[in-house]
Amino acid sequence: MSIKTNLKEIIKKLSEDVTLVAVSKTKSNEEIMEAYEVGQRIFGENKVQEMAKKWEDLPKDIEWHMIGHVQSNKVKYMAPFVSLIHGVDSLKLLKEINKQAAKNERVIECLLQVHIAKEDTKFGFSEEEITTLWNDHVLSELTNVQIIGLMGMATFTEDDVIVQREFESLYKLFKALQKNNNAIKTLSMGMSNDYKIGIKEGSTMVRIGSSIFGKRNY
Ligand SMILES: *Cc1c(COP(=O)(O)O)cnc(C)c1O
Repeated sequence: MSIKTNLKEIIKKLSEDVTLVAVSKTKSNEEIMEAYEVGQRIFGENKVQEMAKKWEDLPKDIEWHMIGHVQSNKVKYMAPFVSLIHGVDSLKLLKEINKQAAKNERVIECLLQVHIAKEDTKFGFSEEEITTLWNDHVLSELTNVQIIGLMGMATFTEDDVIVQREFESLYKLFKALQKNNNAIKTLSMGMSNDYKIGIKEGSTMVRIGSSIFGKRNY
């Protein structure tokens, strides 16, 4: 199957209120342009320098999302152009994004990553930490970042019930935050093998790589 066919099939399955991030990490400019020609304009990368290089080379109407773990010292390379940072997992990182966004006279939209999986390899805040951070006055001082929602990755398992429960708990937290803040609108939840469950559980944004571009060779 070609990239174009794969992408069209996925788009058909998604309702209009779910945004597709085509995850193009490790993929070439040519492969990205195939998806672009189908009309895809949002691409996700997990390495800052790889994303910056692609931003330089590719059409400027592409929106670049950083979906991976971000080291604070790399923020400056994407601050001029990144359109959404999904993996914000510390206050330190949020402060650095704010600083670099200010230097570029921008407000950068961010999602807070919540640790929902059983595995301890996945980054993110606990639900308690999110609630604490939310009630902290420090967020309102960060005028060059706008938190628009949450992101989470489920446990890597064949057991759909586990995935479904983890997504359900993230959705509940999302709804709770939404109550007191109308900037909260995005729930980034679901990848190639679990996006259908994600959507059932209330996802508004899915991050799909291998089902569009095929397996990655690292
Ligand atoms: C790689 C990656 C994806 C896409 O994974 P696929 O299984 O290829 O769809 C989604 N989210 C994050 C955070 C990733 O690193």
